[in-house]
This record gives sequence, structure tokens and C-alpha cells, in this order.
Amino acid sequence: MLVKIEQIKETGLQLNEPIGLNLLGEVLGGDGSGEDTGFRATAPSTLKASLKKVSGGVLLEGQFTANVTSQCKRCLTDVELKVPVAFTLNLVPKSLVRGDDYLKDDESVMEKKERSQGEVGGSFELEDADQEVFDGKVINLDPIVREQLLLALPMGTVCREDCKGLCPQCGINRNEAKCTCETKPVDPRMAPLKNIKLS
Ligand SMILES: [Zn+2]
Ligand SMILES: [Zn+2]
Repeated sequence: MLVKIEQIKETGLQLNEPIGLNLLGEVLGGDGSGEDTGFRATAPSTLKASLKKVSGGVLLEGQFTANVTSQCKRCLTDVELKVPVAFTLNLVPKSLVRGDDYLKDDESVMEKKERSQGEVGGSFELEDADQEVFDGKVINLDPIVREQLLLALPMGTVCREDCKGLCPQCGINRNEAKCTCETKPVDPRMAPLKNIKLS
């Protein structure tokens, strides 16, 4: 997904770009290459994006929904999820990023941050948007989609809030059946407390 800067007219550019299963699969992993996020894409998606030229760059607003499955961390059943991804980025041409010191040492980044926080006024959209650098001619949306999807993935999926999980002793799914493992295994960290007599 490449957008040439000339394609963005005065009125901006609206896009509805398909996001293929292969791209989603690549991001989520599990195909042996790269990191496995534990999520699997179940359907292609569509990126709705709006690009606007602003002073010093391009303002990109984008959103899509990723249909994925992931294992419940307690009972290990597959859970279907719709992960909403929405982002606003300020794309800045490389030529406008002053010097190499921009990312070189933490100190200058900190100073920059403090300074920009102190500034009042200006475009609130730009102040709020995360910054991405591009070559000034072509915007590649693929890496942006990748990064934003990874950022949007939830931590620790559960099939439902009160999922009872698997019995640690017999492995039965306690949402579906009861087992006869009555004795709760004692948490080893709590074991010493068991012998304290309250008299
Ligand atoms: Zn569960
Ligand atoms: Zn059991």
C-alpha cells in the first residue's frame, strides 16, 4: 500500500484499502517467521484512511478492525475477537527532521518533549499525533498498519470475565464440567500461613 504525495490533493485523500490475510498473518506471526503474538487473523480487513497535507507534512488518520482468534489464557479455548485499531499520525518528510540528533540521545528528545509541551496553541491535531518520518515522496502504509495492529492487540485474552479455567490437577475445563479434585492445591507461597494458629 503505497501513497504518492501527489495523490493527496487540496481536499485530502480518502482511502479504503484492503488489508490482506497475508499481511495480517505476517504481523501476528505463527507462520514460523518472526514473533508469534498468539493471535490469528480470520478475515481480511479494510483500512479506512484519510490523508491531509498540513504544514510540514501529512496528517494521516486511519482505522480498521482486525478479526482475530486467540486462546483464552485460562481455559485455552479459542476466542474470536474484533480488535479495533485507530490512529492519527503526523508524517514528516525526512528533509524536515532537523539533524541526526533528533533520535541520537535521550537528552535532546527529552528537551524537545518539554519544549513542545510548553508550547501553547498551534494545531492541536498535530500536537497530539505521533510522528513518523517518511522520505517525502511516497508513504508506505504497510509498516504503519503493522505497527498499529501490534500496539492495539489486547493483553491476556479471556473467553469471558468469569472464566473458571482449567483444573490444575486433572485439566478439565471447569466452565463445562465439574471434576472430583476437591482439594485445592495450596499456593506454595501461602503454605507457611496454613500452620499459623490464631488463638
Ligand atoms: Zn476461558
Ligand atoms: Zn480436576
